[in-house]
Amino acid sequence: RTAVEEAEFYRPYDPAFERRSSERVQLISRIRSGLKAGEFELHYQPKIDLITNRPAGAEALLRWRAVDGRLIMPDSFMPKLEDTSLIAPVTRFVLQQALEFLRQHPEEQLSINFAVRNLFDKALIRDLPKLAQASQVDPGRLEIEITEGALIRNPHGARLILQELRNHGFPVSLDDFGTGYSSFEYLTHLPITGLKIDRAFVRDLESAASSRTVMKCLIEMAQALDLWVVAEGIETEGQCRILRELDCDLGQGYLFGRPMTAKSYLLWRQTDLS
Ligand code: C2E
Ligand code: MG
Ligand code: MG
Ligand code: MG
Repeated sequence: RTAVEEAEFYRPYDPAFERRSSERVQLISRIRSGLKAGEFELHYQPKIDLITNRPAGAEALLRWRAVDGRLIMPDSFMPKLEDTSLIAPVTRFVLQQALEFLRQHPEEQLSINFAVRNLFDKALIRDLPKLAQASQVDPGRLEIEITEGALIRNPHGARLILQELRNHGFPVSLDDFGTGYSSFEYLTHLPITGLKIDRAFVRDLESAASSRTVMKCLIEMAQALDLWVVAEGIETEGQCRILRELDCDLGQGYLFGRPMTAKSYLLWRQTDLS
């Protein structure tokens, strides 16, 4: 039995649970074969320097292209996948694709997302610098995005691993900031380089003065801690203008560009530069 099946083996019989767990086992096995069959790909969403209005790298986001051509979004499989050991090969795939992209495009910078499990995956953390070196990619060009979940699970362990990543030169940012268990206390000890403020704080910027106040505080705090700050989910010119006024460093959102295939992203980059 696999670890997942093992964990689910000794539960009392519950038909709804049986159905859910068999759906889950099926999903996991479809992901496993999809990975082998090359059905996964990365899409790239630009980040924008809000001061200069120039592109400032991209976030790589996982997509699953099903056999019928349909694009399956990560929210529909990532939460289940992140709890299983299969997250390891999936993240290695993401890493390998990201490094290949960076190797081919020396002007580019990328960030990739780590699940909680990835941060505590000793083999992955050990291999990261080696894989970057093998691809001749400066670790400074590959940012790791983690979520607060990793810090709650094991704050001390997380801090040591983040320090190790930082020692190797990888930038590390805290993703979806403000939505989890945001204890500001841990920020003072964390060896991170950036904060990504969740789009929940961006959404009401134009309509709610309180939203602006909270955003202003988050940005000032990030600046005081010497962290880069990225506002996620910018969809309107109005939100963008307010974030500029508040001196936010970077922005990401549909206003600038949706996640795109590598090809579309590179085209988008070219048109922007001309
Ligand atoms: P995330 O890391 O916070 O990524 C940002 C998500 O917000 C992306 O959704 C992006 O498409 C979406 N987004 C960007 N701008 C806007 C906007 O202006 N408006 C709105 N409404 N949404 C916007 P996506 O690609 O569906 O990914 C969802 C989540 O799945 C990610 O959230 C991340 O937590 C996870 N994920 C994606 N790829 C990976 C991966 O390779 N590994 C892991 N562990 N998780 C991943
Ligand atoms: Mg992210
Ligand atoms: Mg995010
Ligand atoms: Mg998210």
